[in-house]
Amino acid sequence: MMTTSIKESLAILAALQRIDTQRASIEKFLSGVSERVDSLGRQLVSFEAQVDDGLRHLEDLRKQYRRDESELKTIESSVLKSEQKLHAVKTNKEYQSTLKEIDDLKLKASIVQDQMLTALEAIEAAEKQVAVLKADLVDMQKEIEENQASIRAEADSHRSVFDALDERRHTVWASLDAKMQKIYNRALQQGHGVAVAAVVDGVCQVCRMNLPPQAYIELMRMNSLEMCPVCQRLIYPAAMIDPTEIIEDD
Ligand SMILES: [Zn+2]
Repeated sequence: MMTTSIKESLAILAALQRIDTQRASIEKFLSGVSERVDSLGRQLVSFEAQVDDGLRHLEDLRKQYRRDESELKTIESSVLKSEQKLHAVKTNKEYQSTLKEIDDLKLKASIVQDQMLTALEAIEAAEKQVAVLKADLVDMQKEIEENQASIRAEADSHRSVFDALDERRHTVWASLDAKMQKIYNRALQQGHGVAVAAVVDGVCQVCRMNLPPQAYIELMRMNSLEMCPVCQRLIYPAAMIDPTEIIEDD
């Protein structure tokens, strides 16, 4: 009977669409996987750079401290020399100028010593900061690796669902005759990747438009294949066709 045949065809077409919709959503998910994994990797790299910055800053502070330290030694040995000179001076003028020299040197030394104290505090703070950053980095590394692994595992499970859908599609596709396959492919093009639309209460579920009453009546009769007059997709009455039957029963 014609009605049965159209109904059967509609069920197969709807099932095919259901499979293709699932495949498309898995493909979309899979196409985003490497970007998600990479983006996590980039987060890690940028945090590593932050830790490196902290280490560089610490190293700069330590270098500055060592420079001050050696400057202080130089000043102190100059002070010693000047003090020795003090014993050997012949004139009062020379004596006074040497004393002044020693005072100047000592003042300079105390400035450098202050600088070194400040540097020590800064080094201590930077060491603490670097230690915190390093600990955070270890945590972050672990978390990111776990996230990446779970994204990859999710992708793998999606891939196996996809493979199963592909196989199922092959079977469902083969149950359509060549003419129907052509019709489906044409509707797929017209519908920009979605060939078949369910109609619920007279509303096309893809373009959301109301079917004209006459078209809806025709659709419910299932005497012929109907297209949505708005989006040009193949339509079927959702109340009468269950695409999952085809998919699950085969
Ligand atoms: Zn439509």
